[in-house]
Amino acid sequence: MTQSLEELRSWDREIVWHAFTQMAEYEPLLIERAHGCVLVDIDGREYLDGVSSLWCNVHGHAHPRLNEAIRQQLDRVAHVTSLGMSNPTTVRLAKRLVDMAPDGLRHVFFSSDGASAVEVALKMAFQYWRQCGVPNPRKTKYVAFGDAYHGDTLGAVSVGGVDRFNEIFRPLLFDAIRLPMPDCYRLPPGVTREAAREYYLDQLESCLRDRHDEIAAVIIEPLVQGAAGMVVHPDGLLAGIRRLTRQYGVLLIADEVAVGFGRTGRMFACQHEHVTPDLMCLGKGLTGGYLPMAATLTTDELWQAFLGQYAEAKTFFHGHTYGGNPLSAAVALASLDVFDEERTLDKMPAKIERLAEHLARIARLDHVGDVRQHGLMAGVELVQDRTTAEPYPWHEKRGISVCNEAMRHGVWLRPLGNVVVIMPPLSISLDELDRICLAVEAGIVAATA
Ligand SMILES: *Cc1c(COP(=O)(O)O)cnc(C)c1O
Repeated sequence: MTQSLEELRSWDREIVWHAFTQMAEYEPLLIERAHGCVLVDIDGREYLDGVSSLWCNVHGHAHPRLNEAIRQQLDRVAHVTSLGMSNPTTVRLAKRLVDMAPDGLRHVFFSSDGASAVEVALKMAFQYWRQCGVPNPRKTKYVAFGDAYHGDTLGAVSVGGVDRFNEIFRPLLFDAIRLPMPDCYRLPPGVTREAAREYYLDQLESCLRDRHDEIAAVIIEPLVQGAAGMVVHPDGLLAGIRRLTRQYGVLLIADEVAVGFGRTGRMFACQHEHVTPDLMCLGKGLTGGYLPMAATLTTDELWQAFLGQYAEAKTFFHGHTYGGNPLSAAVALASLDVFDEERTLDKMPAKIERLAEHLARIARLDHVGDVRQHGLMAGVELVQDRTTAEPYPWHEKRGISVCNEAMRHGVWLRPLGNVVVIMPPLSISLDELDRICLAVEAGIVAATA
């Protein structure tokens, strides 16, 4: 069956229901192929992939090494269930992940996407407290942070804090204990930037002091809250949270779905502060951005609590059909090889530095309230008034206007409300990075004039 491009566009508008998209306004953009950091649409137009195809691409598109890994696995077997059986590729990946993860994470539960990896962590933490050495079935609650984003399934949304997405589903959700977002831009009255870490840790400590007996776990996006608008936490916050959760006997879940796999300049964000969480969620960059796969890593302490005779019912009754899929595992393993072969992490400091230079210039524009960066992950927040940090009304779609303008400069971006996101594949060249940042700058000038 062949169709005209116009037909494809109209089917895309009328049949496909796109994620996080108002279909009444959707303008089709069909990417037919891609190479390196360049996306090519059905008309042959090229765009730099400024947000890594939604934060997941690592080494660029159509990487020969990654393509080959999938082909080779395909000739062996495309899928093997993880319910009571396995395959060598997935086993190798699990071993590789525990070898590179923060010390003490020794077991891997595979799923298919980030939200599922979070659901797994939440359920494991809950069940752990019912069957650990000294059970405490009262520990059923979760502490989460303001504007946190952990995915779109109901458990993940319950701990999530982006009200604009979640409000309508409120009656379906369980209650989480919500602490303020550890923000350094709009600080609470009387709190200085220098005092921010201690302020946020004090909030957590008083919560844990009063309620630790009913709290199963604290869940956090370590170092940077992505969907909140690339909110960079104060230095040392994560290590402080680890210390407090240990002190009060509460598990720590690190959601590294966005920050994992080199995004912050180290393989995992937790490694910046020498933190081992009790549960770590991985997704997005795990397969280099090629195929769906996610993982929840955990400690021997948790694993042990689920062991027993079948009749003791300590089993973790949870699974996803494609969890641990060998094609995904094959490309994930190849992506880790490419990290070594291309010395991806070694090449990052120069790119991080270049991005910082561009952001310093962009920060001086009239309607830029704040620029935030950690590694190759950045947000530029547009405001109505720089002195008061007064936001633009969300429905003015300023962020979207910036991205539309950037498209005219051959750069594809997707904003978070009034925050313009810059998050290219780690393989981006300095030249390409320059072009992305110049397009962002031109877009902001045009959209805030
Ligand atoms: C994207 C994201 C998720 C959800 O991952 P999906 O694969 O989209 O389900 C969870 N947590 C964080 C921090 C994310 O950025």
